[in-house]
Amino acid sequence: MNYDDDNIFARMLRGEIPCEKIFEDEHSFAFLDIMPRAPGHTLVIPRAKASGFLDIGADDLCRLMVCVQKLAPVIVKALDADGFMLQQFNGAGAGQTVFHLHIHIVPRYAGRPLRPHGEQMEDTDVLAGVGAKIRAALGG
Ligand code: 5GP
Repeated sequence: MNYDDDNIFARMLRGEIPCEKIFEDEHSFAFLDIMPRAPGHTLVIPRAKASGFLDIGADDLCRLMVCVQKLAPVIVKALDADGFMLQQFNGAGAGQTVFHLHIHIVPRYAGRPLRPHGEQMEDTDVLAGVGAKIRAALGG
């Protein structure tokens, strides 16, 4: 799939628009979803230009998933969640709305239903508080 350099996540990577960043390294970048399905809903993206799961090289995909594996338990612990769910959508028909590959890490709380996907905007202050907790747990 063609990659649009002006998609919103590409613009975040370039620092052109703000986000509640929780982690970054040479290959990956992670920030809070602005319409979280649960508190701490995090998006992990590669710096590599890939629209979806089928558009990334194996090495970059492995680095991305290693980053997801590193972040998920820290987020769960920081927010006292009971577990987490991974989601990843490919194609508009499948629910993808931003065409830069991203893995959703959604903390889960026993007995607490999820909010709908991409519908309810969270307050900036709430996101900032959650982001601070996660960054503290990551040691930053
Ligand atoms: P998709 O449906 O493509 O898998 O998910 C895109 C996700 O990006 C949605 O969960 C949506 O809430 C989130 N999102 C869309 N625009 C923004 C934004 O400007 N900032 C942040 N932090 N998240 C966004």
